[in-house]
Amino acid sequence: MMASSQSHKLPEPTLDPGGQEMSSKQKQVLLIVSVSCAIACILVGLYFYHESANRAACIINQSSITKSAEAWYGINGQIPKNLNDLTGPTAPFPHSLPVCPSGGTYIYHSHNLKHSKKPVVSCSCKGHVYP
Ligand SMILES: [Zn+2]
Repeated sequence: MMASSQSHKLPEPTLDPGGQEMSSKQKQVLLIVSVSCAIACILVGLYFYHESANRAACIINQSSITKSAEAWYGINGQIPKNLNDLTGPTAPFPHSLPVCPSGGTYIYHSHNLKHSKKPVVSCSCKGHVYP
């Protein structure tokens, strides 16, 4: 038996399962939505990267202030009354205290100098915790 010589043409494959090709307007919308999602993902990533860097810088600041207060206490034999005692021409921070890059406020815990090895300052920003 011979195979039939008739050829059956199959429809061209398309991406659309409905069998209809996307119009140029639909392609434009798809492109705009895809680019917008990509930009949004990049911006969210940059925000978290920036906040992570700020947190790390803040923790380094807290560490520096704590170590400076401990040194000041060791040299002067008394606890600094406030953080301004750590600034000045002969103080650990000649110009000014370091500031939180996220705009947080450092809270002074003078009692930690005498009774524990806990940090002398804490930051008001959530997550900026010196271990
Ligand atoms: Zn902070």
